[in-house]
Amino acid sequence: MLNLVIRGGTVVTAGSLGMTDVGVQDGKVVQLGGSMTGRRELDARDQYVLPGGVDIHTHLTSPVDPGPGVELWVDDFYSGSLAAIAGGVTTIGNMTFQRDGETLRQSLARDLQAAQRDAAIDYILHPVLSDPAPASLAQIPELAAEGHTSLKIFLVEDNFDSLVDEYLEAIQLAARHGMLTLLHCEDGALIRCVCRELLQMGRTAARHFPASRPIFAEVAATERAIAISRALDAPIYIVHLSSARALDSCRRARADGLPVYVETRPLYLYLTSERFAESDAAKYAGAPPLREPEDLRAMWNGLHAGDIQCVCTDHAPWTLRQKLDPARDATNLRQGVADLETMMPMLFSEGVRTGRISLSRFIELTCTNTAKLFGLYPQKGTIAVGSDADLVVWNPEAWRVVDGASMQSRAGYSVYDGREVVGWPRFVVSRGDVVLDEGSITAPRGRGRWIRRGPTQRL
Ligand SMILES: [Zn+2]
Repeated sequence: MLNLVIRGGTVVTAGSLGMTDVGVQDGKVVQLGGSMTGRRELDARDQYVLPGGVDIHTHLTSPVDPGPGVELWVDDFYSGSLAAIAGGVTTIGNMTFQRDGETLRQSLARDLQAAQRDAAIDYILHPVLSDPAPASLAQIPELAAEGHTSLKIFLVEDNFDSLVDEYLEAIQLAARHGMLTLLHCEDGALIRCVCRELLQMGRTAARHFPASRPIFAEVAATERAIAISRALDAPIYIVHLSSARALDSCRRARADGLPVYVETRPLYLYLTSERFAESDAAKYAGAPPLREPEDLRAMWNGLHAGDIQCVCTDHAPWTLRQKLDPARDATNLRQGVADLETMMPMLFSEGVRTGRISLSRFIELTCTNTAKLFGLYPQKGTIAVGSDADLVVWNPEAWRVVDGASMQSRAGYSVYDGREVVGWPRFVVSRGDVVLDEGSITAPRGRGRWIRRGPTQRL
């Protein structure tokens, strides 16, 4: 007798779809189809059985030390895990920033401790390089060998241009050791220049935020990132791409055979810059900002056509009070929104149900491609004998209105409040444990594990 059997559901992976029972033992999928019985059985008739979501882009720890007067993102590994579970995500990746004076290894040790204490689902950590000093560069090959096979760099960082040789050395080292470099593509100098002008003209209200980070700054940095990939033969992953023109650049690079991968995030699929006409515009701030309707259409076309490989949240939650802080202006609004609980349901509801993307594409975008690129596949990101039993029994007819106040993130609001969303998880299984059971979350703090990763797999 097996630990768990999921019976009668339609099992969906990136490459197949069919009605199959799934048998789970000791945290792994051990049987697909055939006769089996389980100590516990989940009824999945009329439901889909999906691989758990792999959202490799979240912010559950702060870039700065906590202290009096310091405002931090409001979710930690525990509340972030709960939001993930409620939305069908079973693996999360956290951006682990170097704080003042820390090496990459020191920052990872700090966040690993927090995750071991708090995470309720499995996780990986991306070291963020913001101080490319020799000590940190020397650690890159060691970190790759230890299973941290990614590195994050912000082209928008104040010191990027002054330390560009060091940053390029880091990207080259990462590539040579099987790591994928995540790049935030906005040009810092151009943005600083535009912001100075806005301040001089007194255009400081939140509605001017989209103008503070223009598309040309994203395109310039995206083109530079592509040139870096070309020069170093380095695989790069462009986080939260937002504009049609930046996507065009990536499409051309990929047609040239460059290992350039594109992530977008939910914000750019559902909202456009007209939101900034609202009185509480600041709540929509993220970097890059919301774009125009033609950009939103380009994102959907990119998901459909395969020019965009991954949808991840960039979950970076603040409360409404923090977002609407009157001390902030258009040039320094708090950036980021909560999205872990809504990412998969909304993409299913507004993508799969409307026919804009297929069910298998939905799985590629939310699970399989991220698992491959980040060295987790096939342990994560698919349903196969031997894979971790990270499974979602998905009710395609479950109807709910988004209400951030009653959701798991401590943000307490959602930018999608009031939207009707059809398709939600009914059960979520993480390494064989039922962690969402008909709406109630049963995962204890600290049950999550760090996943040692292999090299990036090129798509
Ligand atoms: Zn981010």
